[in-house]
Amino acid sequence: MSPAPRSVSIVGAGLAGALLAVLLARRGLRVTVYERRPDPRLGPTDHGRSINLALAARGIRALEMAGLMQEVGHEIIAMRGRGIHDASGGYALLPYGQRPHEIIHSVSRSGLNLALIEAAARVPGVELHFGQSCIGLGERPGTVRLRDEASGATFDSEGEATIGADGAGSAVRRALEAAGLTRSREEPLAHAYKELTIPAAADGGYRLEKYALHIWPRADFMLIALPNNDGSFTATLFLQRSGDHGFEALREPQAVRAFFAREFPTALALMPDLERQFLANPAGPLGTLHCERWQGRGVLLLGDAAHAIVPFHGQGMNCAFEDCAEFALLLDAGLDWPAAFAAFERQRRPNAAAIAQMALENYVEMRETVLDAGFLRRKALGLRLEQRHPRRFIPRYSMVTFHPEIPYADALARGAIQQDILADIDRGCGGTDPASLDLAPFDAVILERLPELALAR
Ligand SMILES: Cc1cc2nc3c(=O)[nH]c(=O)nc-3n(C[C@H](O)[C@H](O)[C@H](O)COP(=O)(O)OP(=O)(O)OC[C@H]3O[C@@H](n4cnc5c(N)ncnc54)[C@H](O)[C@@H]3O)c2cc1C
Repeated sequence: MSPAPRSVSIVGAGLAGALLAVLLARRGLRVTVYERRPDPRLGPTDHGRSINLALAARGIRALEMAGLMQEVGHEIIAMRGRGIHDASGGYALLPYGQRPHEIIHSVSRSGLNLALIEAAARVPGVELHFGQSCIGLGERPGTVRLRDEASGATFDSEGEATIGADGAGSAVRRALEAAGLTRSREEPLAHAYKELTIPAAADGGYRLEKYALHIWPRADFMLIALPNNDGSFTATLFLQRSGDHGFEALREPQAVRAFFAREFPTALALMPDLERQFLANPAGPLGTLHCERWQGRGVLLLGDAAHAIVPFHGQGMNCAFEDCAEFALLLDAGLDWPAAFAAFERQRRPNAAAIAQMALENYVEMRETVLDAGFLRRKALGLRLEQRHPRRFIPRYSMVTFHPEIPYADALARGAIQQDILADIDRGCGGTDPASLDLAPFDAVILERLPELALAR
């Protein structure tokens, strides 16, 4: 067995890299972080995508483990449910869960990243370098080659091992691929996304219900909006890239306005400068990354670098934060680098695969099935079954979002059993209103098929 870990390099001071630096340095490791972008503490840097994000229980648990939730806490906005804007202009709030803590939170990506970098800078043992990019593997196992963006000088990283937390387009992953140590494949989605701003009202207030994640579901595409602290909302349009209804067809101001007037009139009324924003902002690609091996030659991939997913479950960052927490726990268990890297991959791979699948499925739920009467009936039925069997029947969305003690892979497996049970009940009752159903006859199947869970709350 090699000696206990003492020093490590992290590539990327994004969401996962900065949090991991805090967690590892708190465990006594010397941590050197290399980030391609300039230092955000010196002024705003445009990250170029997703202005705000949904933070949920898995991410919160990791932030709490690093002792950072309190300082992040005053910047976040609770979102209690989905605010559904239907095609005829109607609006209804569908709560995410049934208990007061079953909510998610809107958080500014740049604000959160800055808070994490500031926290990392305060922990003894962390050295942060900005404007330095990974460009390949280093000479010695466990190192990578870097380039200083200002001088062009190249050098190898410090430390015994390197963790690549450099996001979906990871240069560390590409370096491992070039060395024949892994292979990856991106599964692109036919849809892309574009961000737009719904400004605050003249008095600084919110022009939509503040404590909600708003959705305008339109079957093949959708618009969503998350609240920001300044009274504005960041809206994101998810739409096919090509075709008559795609981004390609929306290149002229008139076409943009006509599309919004037809599909999202209530949102259009809130965006006076829609055409200017729409034509100025880029459409970003979306996809799922499948990477065959997450480690080799003393280098590990983590977060989006290992397993980027589509954003429809709001779990990419939450999953990346969970990666950081679980990796730190492996070091607590006394593992050396090779053992910790291998155990991390073994433990996290099935969970990353499960959330990748659920994120894709949630897209269909968000844009389409929330409009379907059968879906709404089964959802209501699921909530009643949860009240009846709170330790056995928990809607899949709730397992993923509110129960970090249930691994993603278990949520996927239990969710499939629950879907079966719901479909059977719904079929058997011929679509009766779930509120009036006697559920006692179904207790036995739930006790038999869904073992009791050890829940944290
Ligand atoms: C539209 C959209 C909406 C999303 N919404 C949500 C949400 O609501 N909830 C949620 O949980 N997740 C969401 N996600 C996913 C989330 O953004 C990612 O999962 C998360 O950012 C992953 O963190 P990371 O640290 O692994 O990567 P990143 O945050 O991408 O950080 C990577 C860092 O590495 C740096 N870097 C890149 N290349 C190099 C290099 N060669 N050398 C050095 N540094 C480098 C980058 O500059 C960056 O700072 C969303 C994603 C998108 C696209």
